[in-house]
Amino acid sequence: MKEYKLYLNGKWTSPGPAMEVINPATGEPFAAIATVDRDGVRQALEDAQAAWDGWRNTTAQQRGRHLFKIADEVERRFDEFAKIITLENGKPLPQAQAEVNGTIDHFRWFAEEARRTYGRTVPHQTDGKRHFVIKVPVGVVGAIAPWNFPILLSVRKAGPAMAAGCPVIVKPASATPISTALLAECVEAAGVPAGVFQFVAGKASDIGGEFLDNPICRKISFTGSTEVGQRLIEGSARTITNISMELGGHAPVLVFDDAPLNAAVIGAAMAKYRNTGQSCIAANRIYVQRSIYDQFVEAFVAYSQGLKLGDGLEDGVEIGPLIDEPTLNTALEHIEQATSNGAQLLCGGKCAKGLDGYFLEPTVLTDVPDDALCMTEETFAPVAPLCVFDDEADAVRRANDTRYGLAAYAFTCDLNRSLRMMEQLEAGTVCINDSVPSTSQCPFGGMKASGLGRELGLEGIEPYLETKHISIAGVT
Ligand code: NAP
Repeated sequence: MKEYKLYLNGKWTSPGPAMEVINPATGEPFAAIATVDRDGVRQALEDAQAAWDGWRNTTAQQRGRHLFKIADEVERRFDEFAKIITLENGKPLPQAQAEVNGTIDHFRWFAEEARRTYGRTVPHQTDGKRHFVIKVPVGVVGAIAPWNFPILLSVRKAGPAMAAGCPVIVKPASATPISTALLAECVEAAGVPAGVFQFVAGKASDIGGEFLDNPICRKISFTGSTEVGQRLIEGSARTITNISMELGGHAPVLVFDDAPLNAAVIGAAMAKYRNTGQSCIAANRIYVQRSIYDQFVEAFVAYSQGLKLGDGLEDGVEIGPLIDEPTLNTALEHIEQATSNGAQLLCGGKCAKGLDGYFLEPTVLTDVPDDALCMTEETFAPVAPLCVFDDEADAVRRANDTRYGLAAYAFTCDLNRSLRMMEQLEAGTVCINDSVPSTSQCPFGGMKASGLGRELGLEGIEPYLETKHISIAGVT
């Protein structure tokens, strides 16, 4: 079993005991990663601080060139990355390949954005004065990432941070650190100066605690659960640390009777089952208009039963394992709680037979009460509750009746209705007849308890910049 090292201040090192990394398709360890304790995180922050002066004084074009080189390195090792993502996360290989493509594109997008961190000149109101607004890098960044898109979501932080002139320390999820080790190899190969990109693994509360308490860490960018995000927000109040939060979701899907049925079934199923339901923008509640409800349910169940489960490295697999046993147990609990409160189980509902890992059969529920757990909390599994609605206003009210606001989907061919959905659905991303919305050039993030701030797009580099007003008097 290969043991991977951490990349700290330009060196490969194993400061603490290694942690096993499990392949969720087998439940067996396939690799290990070195760890670091709190003192090691402190040292990493100090080394990042030392690297900051040099890095922020490079030109935007030079930083961009480094990012382009990292992208090229990731591309050169495309197959290796995709295989590692499938091994550590379980997702089917084509979806891991899509994640690697997204990663490459994110680096290239931010390589270009480095050159567009414009300030402005402001007309003066007083004789002899001049006003300018300039953008400067915020400083050392602590980036904490989840396991569901192990590399893509780190890069939404590390890419813009480095482009803006900030050193970054990435903490991947303990379940999926190996793709970040590969990424660090690409950063090294791209000639990025020591201390500008480092990655740590170990006890999350120690790493997060040091990021929060150490004044060197000027910014924390977190993607993960709303619960951990809340703890970090509370902690940031002590030190007034600048934070960005990408938190949980609970996306509704509204299927209107003017939508082409087949396209709506496939679209809703993709929004539900991509990443085995473990996506923050996964469809969690599917509301279908009454006149097409029965047909939709029949087609959706047939689609779900046709999905191939298995090890993500096998050809044709569309549904992989869940990340671990607790995630599987939560999904089973949501199903059990719904059915014991009147929901009908139309397919799935149990662990897949003959597979060793954490596999759940694609599950479709109907007649689910609005207050069932799967209708109020993120299930993070291939569990699809289908519900009926009669009129648009009621559907929108139910869609918005959640503390989350990350993504929402509507399937309709009525232009006026599309515009109403665009404006009325309370989510950072609204998808009309679309189920794979994320792209480097558009902002991504949540409203309400789904987060603070945006990643990607023009907005994506802004969280790593401070805005300064320069006021000059006595100009003759
Ligand atoms: P999680 O349990 O909150 O973990 C996320 C990251 O935070 C991991 O690296 C974890 O480390 C770390 N962490 C845990 N406790 C911490 C602490 N006290 N201080 C600092 N860091 C801590 O979330 P997850 O289960 O990995 O990911 C699933 C969640 O992420 C879902 O709720 C999903 O919706 C959300 N998500 C949101 C977005 C978005 O863009 N809004 C995108 C993807 C996922 P360990 O792994 O070492 O525990």
